[in-house]
Amino acid sequence: MSRSPSDLCLLCQKEPATQTNSHLIPRFLSAKMLLNATKQHFIISRPLLLKYDVPAQSTPKENFLLCPNCEKRLSFVERYIANMFINRYQVSQYASDFPESSGGVYLNERKVIHLNQVDPSIVRLFVYSILWRVAVSHEHYPNFNISADRLKELRNYLDKGLSYNGANLTENTTSPTTIEALPPYNIFICLENKEQGINFVTVRDFDENGNEAFIAANELHIYFNFKRKSDFTKPQRSSESTKAHVKLSPLWEWEYHINQIRKAYGKPPLK
Ligand SMILES: [Zn+2]
Repeated sequence: MSRSPSDLCLLCQKEPATQTNSHLIPRFLSAKMLLNATKQHFIISRPLLLKYDVPAQSTPKENFLLCPNCEKRLSFVERYIANMFINRYQVSQYASDFPESSGGVYLNERKVIHLNQVDPSIVRLFVYSILWRVAVSHEHYPNFNISADRLKELRNYLDKGLSYNGANLTENTTSPTTIEALPPYNIFICLENKEQGINFVTVRDFDENGNEAFIAANELHIYFNFKRKSDFTKPQRSSESTKAHVKLSPLWEWEYHINQIRKAYGKPPLK
């Protein structure tokens, strides 16, 4: 069902949803992908429809989901993540803010990049805001759905946590109980992937039962697990850690996902 500007904002549920061109996946995440002169990247908007290798100018966007104030609340968090993390973690000047360590207690003994200067609660708001936006999308991701209960939990969490004040990003602190009700996730980055041309933005259910979901937002790959419960006593996943981190993905894993997508679109695998 398509939305109109007289509908209520899906986030605050108070103001009219007059905002147009809301990015479902934050636009700044596609910047590096678009820097590539040949624009050999791809953005796949609809998992089951053919839209492959389209030289996109930006990430998918949609009208009348949000009110302008809620759009602004999301942009505060996006700007923070862009400035404190994405635009810094590969810049030598900031290297000491992003130490690497071997996996240890972390999932599968993977290497981890610690985001020492990044507030983990803002990373959580950022990640869950992407999941929520993709899930409420009517136009771009009609095949990606999560349960009504889960959607309500996500909305409540975001509405409480996203500040109206750009100077204080977590005005309303979110209790751990609320976070525990949300699907745990892991964030991966592949540092071996130097070829921006094979980066991509996509959203898909990861298994047939909808227990897992995968959102690739250019350099960030986020896996959600709807079946498992969060466990803050054994903080193995990115969502549970009291310190922000991302896990490192080997190149073969990155290529595996790309090849899965290529296969679905009838393309030969990458060499
Ligand atoms: Zn709103």
